[in-house]
Amino acid sequence: MKKMSDILARYGELVELLEKYNHYYYDLNRPVVDDAEYDDRMRELVEIERAHPEIKRTDSPSARVGGGISSTFAEVRHDPPMQSLGNILEESEFDDFHARCAKFIDPDEREPYSAELKFDGLAVEIAYEKGRFALGSTRGNGESGEDVSANIATIRRLPRTIEGVKEIPRLTVRGEVFLRHDEFDRINAERAAAGEQPFANPRNAAAGSLRQLDPRVTASRELDLVLYGIGRMEGGEAPASQAGMLALFEKLGLPASPHVAFGDLDAIREFYRYWKENRHTLNFDIDGVVVKINRFEPRERMGSTSKVPRWAAAWKFPAREAVTVLSSVDLQVGRTGVITPVANLHPINIGGVLVKRATLHNFDEIRRLGLKLGDSVKVIRAGDVIPKVTEVLTERRPGDAKEIPLPGSCPSCGSALVKEDIFLRCVNDSCVAKRLEALKYFVSKDAMDIEFFGPELVQRLYDAGRLRTVADIFTLAMKDLVALDRMGEKLAEKILASIDARREIPLSMLLRSLGIRNVGDHVAKVIARAVKKLPRLMDITHEELMEIHEVGPGVADSITAFFGDASTRSLLGSLAGAGVTIRDEPVQDEARDQVKGKTFVVTGTLARYSRDEVESLIERYGGRAAGSVSKKTDYVIAGESAGSKLEKARTLGVRVIDEDEFRKMLGEGE
Ligand code: NAD
Repeated sequence: MKKMSDILARYGELVELLEKYNHYYYDLNRPVVDDAEYDDRMRELVEIERAHPEIKRTDSPSARVGGGISSTFAEVRHDPPMQSLGNILEESEFDDFHARCAKFIDPDEREPYSAELKFDGLAVEIAYEKGRFALGSTRGNGESGEDVSANIATIRRLPRTIEGVKEIPRLTVRGEVFLRHDEFDRINAERAAAGEQPFANPRNAAAGSLRQLDPRVTASRELDLVLYGIGRMEGGEAPASQAGMLALFEKLGLPASPHVAFGDLDAIREFYRYWKENRHTLNFDIDGVVVKINRFEPRERMGSTSKVPRWAAAWKFPAREAVTVLSSVDLQVGRTGVITPVANLHPINIGGVLVKRATLHNFDEIRRLGLKLGDSVKVIRAGDVIPKVTEVLTERRPGDAKEIPLPGSCPSCGSALVKEDIFLRCVNDSCVAKRLEALKYFVSKDAMDIEFFGPELVQRLYDAGRLRTVADIFTLAMKDLVALDRMGEKLAEKILASIDARREIPLSMLLRSLGIRNVGDHVAKVIARAVKKLPRLMDITHEELMEIHEVGPGVADSITAFFGDASTRSLLGSLAGAGVTIRDEPVQDEARDQVKGKTFVVTGTLARYSRDEVESLIERYGGRAAGSVSKKTDYVIAGESAGSKLEKARTLGVRVIDEDEFRKMLGEGE
């Protein structure tokens, strides 16, 4: 048992810490710890308060909302107060939440709950008087906030007037002001160029932009707004549920989130799971979903605590960021010989995945981070991206932290490394690590796309001495495969069949598979379409290559160097000897015809191309890239988080295609 004096001391320490964190987060928009750490400390505080209610302070951070109110803004009272939300961190806590609510809702109700995205911005209240925007304020401490009307008025999505509301003389609505990712990036790039400190994340940037003294600064940043609640409504027919309220918002032209669900426990769980997996497809940050009892009547009966409503909860996503310790650095040799340093970390659970390694990209990055062995580091894992070290917590550096030595030689073959730009490279052609990586690349989806032939099989065949060059793949026989451990005849047959399916390939597929520097799928197609036949490449000159549209000096250099090399000639000879035929590249005129003369509008974020790239492709193929959708638009190419242009296309009946369909029109991709 812990001594009471220790518990009291820890309690005091936690109150002080959380007050400090709140001040930095809410008042200064500059958090000093991450949210997971904050939430852990808050839980510790709440646990002490539960076990020893007698020591709980009335002004405990667990009982109060948000931060302070800056004296630079006029004070606005919130009626009723704006609250925070209780957290659900695990599925079992969602069941507990339901158990508490179940007593208040009708068991026969089909849609007892609503679920919305939890926008990661800052809460605001907006008042309309006689249908006109009258006042906008921050949440502040919940009871009162700051009058930021002049700044809120700059938000484009905020309607100045709402239509048809004669019968609603006064309406206050509540929602979140946030920043989209592209705008966040733009603002930070601008700050970096001006030598200013970049914002740590879109939430801080949104808060910093809204709590500005000069509304012109706010206006220069495109803040966004979404509404999810009503404060007070005078007159009119008051909605009776979240669903009814969102329908009213739509009728009044007020911005509400398009992503909502209504239903029972399973529907809410499904919504949570869907967005946990897919939140990276949104162009803004969400940190969970908000579950609410749908109807207002049971909400009233349930009521709230001093800080949170009992009828709603924020079901948070697992953190994607964590702090751990760097124990050592491995060196990985890529197929082109580039040496990539990889961090070995004390294993840590990030968002449900045990992370042990993270990429450090290159040695310039290690220097930029100021990283040493033994350092505490911040690691992020976003979507399906490889975990990445983003920051060193130098204040936690141990006394015996060691420098990370710059390697002088290749960890695989020992030959001297060459520094090229920011990369260290092994230039020994017979380096085993390089060869293995080149073989793994050759069979992969991006290259020859040989089904059932993964990196592990490459390694096993290499170890068995049966694979040295890519041509060896085409001489593999049943006996080579079944000689491997855990390889049955059925699987071996499938592997051999997929190898056979690649015995006759178009020139572009060969080109993209050989691992020629600067030559990926697109460039391979461009060159193959221009030269058509493999023999033409063997003695092509730099000048001839430069004449091909889209081929620059870098690509021309790599192509001439590659095909001028004696080992390439012998490799192509062995491929032919192993029964591989390279077909002339087919002409792709039908593809061009689909684009020629057509008007395209691009909306949302595409995975493969930037906006500029896709628009220049359209123009190169004789199409027109327009900025807005009209009846004359032939196609809208919609990427992730496509917005109003997509809606307009649907209203006008314009054909909407995705990136893959567009690539097919160009004859790209399979
Ligand atoms: P919260 O952000 O966890 O949840 C409440 C807020 O969610 C509401 O006030 C509203 O602004 C917002 N929200 C977004 N979408 C919503 C929707 N659809 N419906 C209703 N509300 C919605 O609570 P909080 O009190 O604003 O902040 C507490 C949290 O902030 C902590 O759990 C922590 O993660 C973070 N925090 C971090 C630090 C730090 O130093 N890192 C300090 C303080 C707070």
